[in-house]
Amino acid sequence: MSGLPIVLWPDARLSKNCAPVGDADIQALAAQMLETMYAAPGRGLAGPQVGDMRRLFVMDVTWKEGERTPMVFVDPSIFARSAETVEMEEGCLSIPDLMVPVTRPREISVTWRDETGAAQSADFDGFAARCIQHEIDHLDGVVTLDHLDTAARAALLEGYDPE
Ligand code: ZN
Repeated sequence: MSGLPIVLWPDARLSKNCAPVGDADIQALAAQMLETMYAAPGRGLAGPQVGDMRRLFVMDVTWKEGERTPMVFVDPSIFARSAETVEMEEGCLSIPDLMVPVTRPREISVTWRDETGAAQSADFDGFAARCIQHEIDHLDGVVTLDHLDTAARAALLEGYDPE
């Protein structure tokens, strides 16, 4: 199975709201997205990053430590967020070699459907919570840089050349 080309910032597709998946069959797409994510290599990859403008993403927050735990999130929704926030530097496969400090809630509660269509609900903290919020941002047309004010964004992008 071959990987999909990754859409790079500032491609306009990374600034668009994605449409619900609904009950469309995304199993083949999700498998391709996971392969693309592992090959990149990354720990999360959202639909618009491979040009599919629907609300789904894949994630595996453990594989770099040796154990694969692939997860597929279809039409995900965050229904609770901790008041406590934490700042962390985030990378993004669509913005290579640029780490961006982003402040987010430490814990979140999420509902979604998995690749088989089964409804899921769980609480996440740590890196998984960070990754899920980053990927859902992609589904809302938001990238890491959009969390910065104009001055901080300009300073970080000075001299940045993804090529
Ligand atoms: Zn990203």
